[in-house]
Amino acid sequence: MRCPFCRHADSRVVDSREVDEGQAIRRRRSCSKCGRRFTTSETMVLAVVKRSGVTEQFSREKVVRGVRRACQGRPVDDDALQQLAQRVEESIRSAGVAEIPSHEVGLAILGPLRELDAVAYLRFASVYRSFSSIEDFEKEISDLRVAMAAPADPDNSDNGADDD
Ligand SMILES: [Zn+2]
Repeated sequence: MRCPFCRHADSRVVDSREVDEGQAIRRRRSCSKCGRRFTTSETMVLAVVKRSGVTEQFSREKVVRGVRRACQGRPVDDDALQQLAQRVEESIRSAGVAEIPSHEVGLAILGPLRELDAVAYLRFASVYRSFSSIEDFEKEISDLRVAMAAPADPDNSDNGADDD
């Protein structure tokens, strides 16, 4: 990587450390010509494979754009959208794969979006799952009601105990 100050092509690494729990490596470099220092960051490229077979780099911005459309008129601010996109990226990266089909990105969005706003979730799900009838909505809404009535703590959601 060229020195950002003098464009010299050679630099040496003076410090290297893992950040984001090992998901990235940050290197402090020193230019061998002008001696100035700069930092580079190395992360795994998460590739999204589109239906056409074309791959593109995962983008949080794209997730935000897709979800923002579903959130029109809803009380969901930009911070919430950014956090959602971050959760989506983390859940995909934690699966430990370097490539993911684009439709699985949509799947990873559904969970956090449902927690964020039920109406936005329904809108997004209706497009993503290609709802074609009122019955599709009815089924999704009844599933949503069940999910919203379920205990909030996922660790306790399947222990069969009735807390009432
Ligand atoms: Zn330089």
